[in-house]
Amino acid sequence: MRALLIDDSRTMRSILKRALSPLGFEQFAEAGDGAEALVRLAELGAFDVAFVDWNMPNMNGLELVKAVRKNADYAEMKLVMCTTESDLQHVQSAMEAGANEYVMKPFTPDMIGEKLSMIGVVS
Ligand SMILES: [Mg+2]
Repeated sequence: MRALLIDDSRTMRSILKRALSPLGFEQFAEAGDGAEALVRLAELGAFDVAFVDWNMPNMNGLELVKAVRKNADYAEMKLVMCTTESDLQHVQSAMEAGANEYVMKPFTPDMIGEKLSMIGVVS
């Protein structure tokens, strides 16, 4: 499986990678903001799942979700928002824009696995 990790924090991208590897993900791509994520997608095609940070420069998580959901090529790709407690009020707008799930930071690998199983990415 392939995961796209979108966060302006390199540390957060590493944490996600470590959480996902034991779940059977073997390919990862990373992006530091929404605009870079769209470039990765154009280069590499759809991923099984993308983890999307909320606060990022250039293009934030909500703008990215809207852009991804406009493109039929990415219709099957699951989008998981990574939020902090202060963003939680905005989660609803991301879900309405087409995000599939959200996970609150700080998260554990178990929480990631649980969310992915809820949306059918892992069993
Ligand atoms: Mg951020």
